[in-house]
Amino acid sequence: MSKSKMSKVSFENTEIAFKAKSSSDLKKSYWLFKLVGNNVLVNLGPTLLKFAFFLRLPIKSIIKNTIFEQFCGGESIIECKERIQSLAKYNVQTILDYSVEGESSKENFDLTANEIIKTIELAKGDENIPFAVFKTSGLARIELLEKVSSNILLNENEKKEFGLLKDRVKFICQKAYDLDVRIFIDAEESWIQNAIDDLATSMMRKYNNEKAIVYNTLQMYRWDRVAFLKQSYADAENGNYCLGLKIVRGAYMEKERERAQELGYSSPIQKDKISCDKDYDFALAYCINHIDKISLCAGTHNEESSLNLIDLMKENNILKDDKRVYFSQLLGMSDHISFNLADKGYNVVKYMPYGPVKLVLPYLIRRVQENTSISGQTGRELSLIIKEKVRRTI
Ligand SMILES: Cc1cc2nc3c(=O)[nH]c(=O)nc-3n(C[C@H](O)[C@H](O)[C@H](O)COP(=O)(O)OP(=O)(O)OC[C@H]3O[C@@H](n4cnc5c(N)ncnc54)[C@H](O)[C@@H]3O)c2cc1C
Repeated sequence: MSKSKMSKVSFENTEIAFKAKSSSDLKKSYWLFKLVGNNVLVNLGPTLLKFAFFLRLPIKSIIKNTIFEQFCGGESIIECKERIQSLAKYNVQTILDYSVEGESSKENFDLTANEIIKTIELAKGDENIPFAVFKTSGLARIELLEKVSSNILLNENEKKEFGLLKDRVKFICQKAYDLDVRIFIDAEESWIQNAIDDLATSMMRKYNNEKAIVYNTLQMYRWDRVAFLKQSYADAENGNYCLGLKIVRGAYMEKERERAQELGYSSPIQKDKISCDKDYDFALAYCINHIDKISLCAGTHNEESSLNLIDLMKENNILKDDKRVYFSQLLGMSDHISFNLADKGYNVVKYMPYGPVKLVLPYLIRRVQENTSISGQTGRELSLIIKEKVRRTI
């Protein structure tokens, strides 16, 4: 990736980055990231946590006051409200992300759909919550999505089940359209993604006639996504609808590679990080060059990618607060990017995961693993916190 030359935004300013954190919050984050940097603890953590819940040990409040508080907004929408306000003070907006994973009954899929509807209702008319989001795997069984993605014929029961999934997705997107709230459909594992892409495309065709309400997600760690991006654009041109796209690198790299090797097919993942970065850059430039038709959100913690998007906006005379371009990071991570961008007037929105502590554990474990130290190095989040602690002399 080429170093950005034009952008005047710097992510070095930790005073702005941690504005929303009191000194005691900052110290708490310091200890948390220090612990998280410990490989042994992190490797043992998931097993210990499951065991502790199994034994009904009173660990919920410990988790809630530590990792949960760092990475989640609350256990319910109401609990998130304070956090939404505290971000909004600094022009950082929120996407409420109901992060319960691994449910597999019809009742739970309906409950999840209803929960997403509640997030859309809350977002209605609230400029601090410009988007809603859902994962298709929260609304249907993985095995079903896998069959549909591989074009395997469904039996009668499965056809009904798939019909129910389509109803849930339509119900959510219709609500988003009616209440004028944009909605992201997250990208997931490649073996279920064809089904998700098809659903997302049909929803965009239906609801994106005037502007992008429904957004699909593209994972640029897949080598086939540039072609898919161009095809999606051609489809939108032909179908006369707007394309909504969240551009990410992708979260399931190891799992993808392992499965491909295990089952003996060629991996859908790029050969190296440079190729992934190159396609990420390409996708941002492509979206900006087709901004009349495409609305985009760069879901990234990568500083260069964020600076690159700023430059692209400048080169194309796109205003900082143009609603067709958003930057997005996860709550509790890369505040130096989010808060510095928001301070300069760009549209920034944080994914705010929420849900009962026990049920969001898989999400929390992923965040912790992402922040584990690599060969003993101090992680980026921790370095930034240390810099701000020194600045505040605390
Ligand atoms: C707001 C937001 C929304 C997100 N939504 C989704 C989503 O819907 N679906 C999803 O899958 N992920 C999603 N993610 C996660 C995202 O895909 C990345 O895993 C994460 O953001 C790290 O990538 P990065 O761009 O921030 O930074 P970087 O640190 O620059 O990139 C790390 C990423 O690069 C890729 N990579 C690393 N090494 C290699 C390699 N050797 N070869 C090829 N690729 C490599 C991997 O994707 C890895 O995660 C989201 C992230 C954010 C911030």
